[in-house]
Amino acid sequence: MKRRKVIKHIGLGLSAGIALPGWLASCKGDDPAPTPGYEGTVAIVGAGAAGLYTADILKAQGIKVILFEASDRLGGRVKTLKTTDKPSASLIFNSLSPLSSDFPNELGAGQIIGSDSSWGKVVEQLKLTTVNLGTATTNNYFLDGAFVESSAAEADSDFIAAKNFFDNIATYSGGNVSVQQAILSAGISPRMYAILNSWIGNKYGTTNERMSMLALSDGLKLVTRNNELQTLSDNPMQDALLSRFSNVAVDVMSNTVVSEIDYTGEKIVMYGENTASAETFSVEVDKVIVTAPVSILKSGSISFTPGLNAKKTAALSRMDMDPALRILLDFKANFWGADSGFLYGGTTAPDYFTSGAGRSDVNRTMAVTIAGPEAATLSALGKDAIPVLLAELDTIFDGKATLNIRKDLNDNIIAIIQDWSLEPFIKGGMSYAKPGGTNQDRIDLAEPVNSKLFFAGEATDVNGEFGTLNGALLSAERAAQEVIDSI
Ligand SMILES: Cc1cc2nc3c(=O)[nH]c(=O)nc-3n(C[C@H](O)[C@H](O)[C@H](O)COP(=O)(O)OP(=O)(O)OC[C@H]3O[C@@H](n4cnc5c(N)ncnc54)[C@H](O)[C@@H]3O)c2cc1C
Repeated sequence: MKRRKVIKHIGLGLSAGIALPGWLASCKGDDPAPTPGYEGTVAIVGAGAAGLYTADILKAQGIKVILFEASDRLGGRVKTLKTTDKPSASLIFNSLSPLSSDFPNELGAGQIIGSDSSWGKVVEQLKLTTVNLGTATTNNYFLDGAFVESSAAEADSDFIAAKNFFDNIATYSGGNVSVQQAILSAGISPRMYAILNSWIGNKYGTTNERMSMLALSDGLKLVTRNNELQTLSDNPMQDALLSRFSNVAVDVMSNTVVSEIDYTGEKIVMYGENTASAETFSVEVDKVIVTAPVSILKSGSISFTPGLNAKKTAALSRMDMDPALRILLDFKANFWGADSGFLYGGTTAPDYFTSGAGRSDVNRTMAVTIAGPEAATLSALGKDAIPVLLAELDTIFDGKATLNIRKDLNDNIIAIIQDWSLEPFIKGGMSYAKPGGTNQDRIDLAEPVNSKLFFAGEATDVNGEFGTLNGALLSAERAAQEVIDSI
């Protein structure tokens, strides 16, 4: 695509003193289809699941789209480990030797939550084979400092009470307190606190102490999908996402950080920088959909002129996004159970997952997910977080973790850390509502401004699917519809 054509195509308007960046001339692919009745351009900030899907829907309507992605890759929090991945501050390789796994290793979203969910339907359309974790694996527990198999846990009356609490979150009718306070009020035994944190707080990117029970309950009341949990049998999640949205990949400007969105005038002026060339840019568009995570919106690294209204800033103040880590540990043998799915109840790491279970005989890799303050502590340790996890496993499994961990010829443990808090344009795991927050905050955050500024991304999901790929996709459908309605 020629530079002159790009200017015409996306209606670029250059501010005085800001040179046209050369990287804009490197746009690949053909022009979008002619726009029936609408000549404007819709810019999308972020090429994660929400950004790609909004672009896909609008482009299918013949609307011109352009996506600005701050990082050098597409997919956002959907990221699969590749053999070509280079170490960085946020992706730490403890050894140069590869993991022994013969299946894709997910560094972000790994599970399909609901076989009939938005993401489940995409996977079905793509005809990708899946593993039903509910039937192929069994979840086991750390309880009273020991490994407890599912069957034994299910016979424990404290466990039954905790499970009952968990299964009935959607029917909660108490005050706007933390999940942990609701657990205390329900009289659940302290023996179950860590397991409940594995099931709830950590799954939503934080801890039970930090998140609102009422907002979670209000959200879960709205969920319509089933609860079948799946993984892809053979395919990387990132490839699945990009293959579904491959038609809009050509519309993505990578390494393009949007820093200001001025929607004062008839046209919206966006300012930013291409980090690969260190060139600044400004561009005029007609509508903007912002899909950047809550952490980015809260940090103020994208400034809005005029500033975001009080409703949105209040909503943001009641939401947060905590650090989150995915640590891959590779063992010589599976000492915790070949058909084991999740190991719940850890306090250092609330979620140890046997990522090969149901899809490989080489299922001796653990994908560990830690969110909240503990993730911040481990993040600060860098590589030294790995022995801390092994120490927790050693306590439960009589030293078998240290005994079985794979090492390279230089005695380095073969492990990989994806630190989402150090991804400069994501800065954390997923959005959650703090005590005092409600589902209305997501509705307020999602609300369009002046038929010009629109919001998508998992945090703006209003169907109880926040913090998931389903939420990101549903928010994309909503925002794309709002854009179409505004034309
Ligand atoms: C460890 C972990 C495990 C998870 N597990 C699951 C799971 O099993 N199942 C599930 O369904 N979900 C899971 N999730 C959640 C899921 O990954 C996310 O909800 C979803 O991917 C979010 O998509 P999004 O488009 O809303 O945001 P993102 O994917 O974060 O996309 C936003 C994009 O905006 C870009 N951006 C930010 N600022 C700017 C800027 N200034 N200019 C330009 N671009 C910018 C970012 O680089 C990013 O690419 C997990 C998340 C994490 C972190």
